[in-house]
Amino acid sequence: MSDARLGGDWSGESEDHLDTLAVRAAMGGDPRTGSVQPPVYQTSTYEQSGFAEHTGYEYARTQNPTREALEQAVAALESPREVASGVAFSSGMAAISTCVQLLQAGDHVLCVDDVYGGTWRYLMQVMDRFGISTTFSAFENGGQTLDELCRDETRMLIIETPTNPLLSIHDITELSAAAKARGILVLVDNTFATPLLQRPLDLGADIVIHSTTKYIGGHSDLIGGMAVVRDSKLAERLRFLQNAVGAIPGPWDCFLTLRGLRTLAVRMERHCSNATLLADRLADHPRVLELLYPGLQTHPGHAVAAQQMGGQFGGMLSLQVEGGAAGARRFVAELRHFTLAESLGGVESLVNHPLTMTHASMPEEDRLARGFSAGLLRLSVGIEHPEDLWKDIERALSA
Ligand code: PLP
Repeated sequence: MSDARLGGDWSGESEDHLDTLAVRAAMGGDPRTGSVQPPVYQTSTYEQSGFAEHTGYEYARTQNPTREALEQAVAALESPREVASGVAFSSGMAAISTCVQLLQAGDHVLCVDDVYGGTWRYLMQVMDRFGISTTFSAFENGGQTLDELCRDETRMLIIETPTNPLLSIHDITELSAAAKARGILVLVDNTFATPLLQRPLDLGADIVIHSTTKYIGGHSDLIGGMAVVRDSKLAERLRFLQNAVGAIPGPWDCFLTLRGLRTLAVRMERHCSNATLLADRLADHPRVLELLYPGLQTHPGHAVAAQQMGGQFGGMLSLQVEGGAAGARRFVAELRHFTLAESLGGVESLVNHPLTMTHASMPEEDRLARGFSAGLLRLSVGIEHPEDLWKDIERALSA
């Protein structure tokens, strides 16, 4: 039978490596057939034998065994040695927004400056209307400190690291300690790093969230989100919100996400080694004006990234090519192995123009203040052969 049973929270009892947990956590779960992988429970409701008599499964917004398998597997990776709960959502934004709904009108949020544009939009254009205000800061990267920005009503700190799209690094341990000293809940968006590289709960965070659309799903064929927490009361509050708000993923998407997760460890190795090779070569290219990759010794966050990301630096890099917006357009038009598309973290390489794509909802002055110039491009380096990717980039740069 399976190593880890389906249903409920991750027990935190395994001593296995993450690679093994990615493959084996929440296997099985169907005693009737012994199916090796959790079945897809494509049902909206469950038969009850009498009033208030049921198997523990009443209605699929509230409970679904396929979803529970995914929740348990992601919780196992984010917290391999301690009990943790995963709470799945229909998208990364659903995970973030439901977590922000832990707060109340009048509360204040601190958030790192250079976050995914959708997170910025949600905080500034949605939650602001409900009386939850947000202050953004680059913190240790030239911004004001947490102590300087904190107010009596500050309740949550949102960290993204590496950030999207500038790949800035924030020190999770340091920021979490400062927030904890003031009783502020710390939420870390771990989408870029994945638990294979970085486990924020071990570094002091209270909540880890993912857009599982990205590396965890890994194949650009689904939209999903996840929150993982260790505190059982927090887990209870998030499960309440998961059911009350209702932004849940369907069973097929949970199945696909779990299927993606099984190969996360091997995919991440290749994403990281491919990105490192491209970054090393691009750093010396005469047509590249700026290259942002935390794996480079010259990156200001390199030392912190090396420590908190376990010596690997992920598959994302951003660059500015010669010629501003026109140069960027020419370069993208020449690329064959990087598809111009939103999103990241799939097996295939993608190129993104943050100004007109992921961060288009941000007003121009906010984008410029953060350094998102018209020539900035973000690459999601896939798992193709590295030399094919390099040949493609080199040719596109010299066109
Ligand atoms: N967090 C980060 C870092 C992202 O890049 C994204 C999407 O690109 C999200 C959250 C939102 O995720 P989703 O698109 O699944 O809602």
